[in-house]
Amino acid sequence: MIEVKEALETVAANSSNMPKQKIAVHKALGYVLAETIYSPIAMPPFRQSAMDGYAFIHSGRHQFDIIGISQAGDHLKVKLKENEAVRIFTGAHVPKNADTVVMQEDVMANDDSILIAKMPEPFANVRNKGEQINEEDVVFDANTVITPAAIGFLACLGITEIQVYKKPKIAILVTGNELVEPGKKLKKGKIYESNSIMLQAALQTIGIKNAKVFRVKDSLKETKNVLKDLLKKNDIILISGGISVGDYDFVKEALLENGVEELFYKINQKPGKPMFFGSKKNTLVFALPGNPASSLTNFYIYVYPAVKNLMGFSNTHLPKITRKLNDDIENTTGKTLFLKALYDETSVTILDGQASSMLNSFAIANGLVIVEQDCEKMKKGSLVTILPID
Ligand code: AMP
Ligand code: MG
Repeated sequence: MIEVKEALETVAANSSNMPKQKIAVHKALGYVLAETIYSPIAMPPFRQSAMDGYAFIHSGRHQFDIIGISQAGDHLKVKLKENEAVRIFTGAHVPKNADTVVMQEDVMANDDSILIAKMPEPFANVRNKGEQINEEDVVFDANTVITPAAIGFLACLGITEIQVYKKPKIAILVTGNELVEPGKKLKKGKIYESNSIMLQAALQTIGIKNAKVFRVKDSLKETKNVLKDLLKKNDIILISGGISVGDYDFVKEALLENGVEELFYKINQKPGKPMFFGSKKNTLVFALPGNPASSLTNFYIYVYPAVKNLMGFSNTHLPKITRKLNDDIENTTGKTLFLKALYDETSVTILDGQASSMLNSFAIANGLVIVEQDCEKMKKGSLVTILPID
């Protein structure tokens, strides 16, 4: 059995970046950049009007003759004199020597001349060439996460393809004779299988949408056979259940017999003690406890940072925040506790129902409070560390 800290270090040391791939920008949401991107153009590519109005040379005069129209998309080749202005619209090219745009609301206009009623500051309402970015400048550093805005920015620079880290291929293997698919009739002695759909959903929060689910009975032979195939085809395997010490827990044996190297087994924590972490070639195996709350806790603590590491994220762990405790906490277990809790702006309440089987409390929790293994007592009002999971 190892401590949480050592388990986290072992997971981090064994989860390196996935290979790189080229991907179309419109498909890149949630991927992480594997290259630095430089801009092929300046943005804006030319001086643009920021308003519908009139472009002119700011000189103190108020009256101008209109000598042309510049619509968005046009490139009007005129050289203004001091007494001349051009009718202009938002996004349109500002003629060469014009330096200021007055908005149309501040102007009295007739067909061929204007009188500026409210004079703007010099250079007002003109977007300068390259004011967002210049040609050859860095658009994004490597390890930037591609958001909707990042996709928009890349597109407005004319970039269509980028290099990102591949997302890992993940399989979920569910063990247990007692498990029945939700929607089917629940016979005596059976329970509904909930871990696979829960882990799939948890993976979706970090952009893994296609984790496939496989199911086996509590049989060494069947578990071994299915694992043999999954180990060849996946970057990560998440296993649910069968990793404890019961007579029908065959997962560890099946893994070792398939040549998976044990990196650790059992962690000094509650919930989530019976967990196995191992690897074979480039495949990582997380055998998570079957108890649903343990399974999800260990997903957040160990699987989440590993997947993010593989995907190229630079911040891989859940963020940590601190709040004031609304209750006393006792920890006589000598283990690290992860307590399902509800926090608000200032404080945090530990929820009833901390048993490893209980999802009723987890389902309404928005954070996990960490109590270190050597911390025996925490008084109401003291500051605790929380991992937000909302
Ligand atoms: P195990 O780790 O296989 O001994 O399972 C521990 C507990 O978790 C047992 O009560 C199981 O019935 C329950 N359990 C295991 N797998 C699942 C699952 N996929 N969905 C819901 N409960 C499960
Ligand atoms: Mg079981």
